[in-house]
Amino acid sequence: MAKTGEICSFCGRGTREVNMLINGISGAICDDCTQQAYEMVKEQIPTKSDSTSFKLNRKELPKPEDIKAFLDQYVIGQDDAKRRLSVSVYNHYKRLLQKVTPDDVEIEKSNIIMVGATGTGKTLLARTIAKMLHVPFTIVDATVLTEAGYVGEDIESILTRLLQVADYDVDEAQRGIVFIDEIDKIARKSDNPSITRDVSGEGVQQGLLKLLEGSIVNVPPQGGRKHPEQKMIPVDTKNILFICGGAFDGIEKKIAQRLNTRVVGYASQRSITTIDRNNLLQYVTPTDLKSFGLIPEIIGRLPILTYLNPLDRQTLRSILTEPKNSIIKQYVKLFEMDEIKLSFDESVYEYIVDKALEFKLGARGLRSIVEAIMTDAMYGMPSSKEKKLHVTVEYAEGKFESSDARRLQIA
Ligand code: ADP
Repeated sequence: MAKTGEICSFCGRGTREVNMLINGISGAICDDCTQQAYEMVKEQIPTKSDSTSFKLNRKELPKPEDIKAFLDQYVIGQDDAKRRLSVSVYNHYKRLLQKVTPDDVEIEKSNIIMVGATGTGKTLLARTIAKMLHVPFTIVDATVLTEAGYVGEDIESILTRLLQVADYDVDEAQRGIVFIDEIDKIARKSDNPSITRDVSGEGVQQGLLKLLEGSIVNVPPQGGRKHPEQKMIPVDTKNILFICGGAFDGIEKKIAQRLNTRVVGYASQRSITTIDRNNLLQYVTPTDLKSFGLIPEIIGRLPILTYLNPLDRQTLRSILTEPKNSIIKQYVKLFEMDEIKLSFDESVYEYIVDKALEFKLGARGLRSIVEAIMTDAMYGMPSSKEKKLHVTVEYAEGKFESSDARRLQIA
């Protein structure tokens, strides 16, 4: 009779019939049985991702109003976008919690598309949502994507990034959020199907379809081009929420055209006067996205369409000081760490906003302007005895004018 250590105590096969035999105190197990035992354990015992699913506990799931209140702490204005996002994120996670029985109503995925000028807070909104929900979140730029086989990145690389931020925990990644920026840049280049292939436009839209609708995609774990030797990780995109954003430069013209053609006749004369010509984006519809060059199939898979308002003077002023981690609060904190009390005259804020408007830098510019004003103090004060800095508008002006302000203008 074979001795312990020579046969598998589970299947009875000997050392010659198996690849490997692991010895225990009074028995042994072969590699095949280990594999099977592992599968059984996996089925029976909740995995790590199940145990973290307390975040998706129905009771703890934040309600749309809670989600909006959270967004309000970080993002100024943009109420329509916030409400739309809050509702669709809430519905998305309700959908994840639904235990579907065959005759049940199946809730469809509610991917989102946000239209708004650059720097108005699209990325910030998506990022803040992900922060609140503690789910893996990644931002990808649609401009780098090309159809498989062409110079650029494969569509699947979007999921590689998500896997990487989820530490390759596939279950976690499978309910993450992907923000696809500059979706407008993959619009069809012209209405006529051209002789040359549109590999970074329509081709990418076609490729994105299968990701958006939910399917199992083989993802190269390290990104890059697929090659036969690379082991792929299958990722199911059914529960991944896709949020797309784009500036859609020039879409106002299409919106205006549509509004004008529709508004004919006496009855509609009145409604034309109520149209706010300065902010046509608020009237955006899927038809406008189609005229811009998104294919109908993509538009159909991004059912929630919302817009962002341009940032006016008042909003820029609020962005400077109001968000939980506003630019000014960040500088006060930086100085506080050197035990320096930093304060500003109200008029300095107005000056900063003036400059941002003058240089047409939007919210992104606010930071560069504050940086230009504060650099000298941040350089010198930590090694001086001075423990207080009060910034007046004269101080701000002096520092800003002597900094390389022209560079900001070109940037
Ligand atoms: P977009 O994605 O629309 O191009 P971002 O979300 O990246 O713009 O915004 C750029 C920066 O401007 C953000 O990091 C943020 O500091 C600031 N910002 C823009 N809009 C807002 C807003 N509505 N509220 C607060 N900060 C904003």
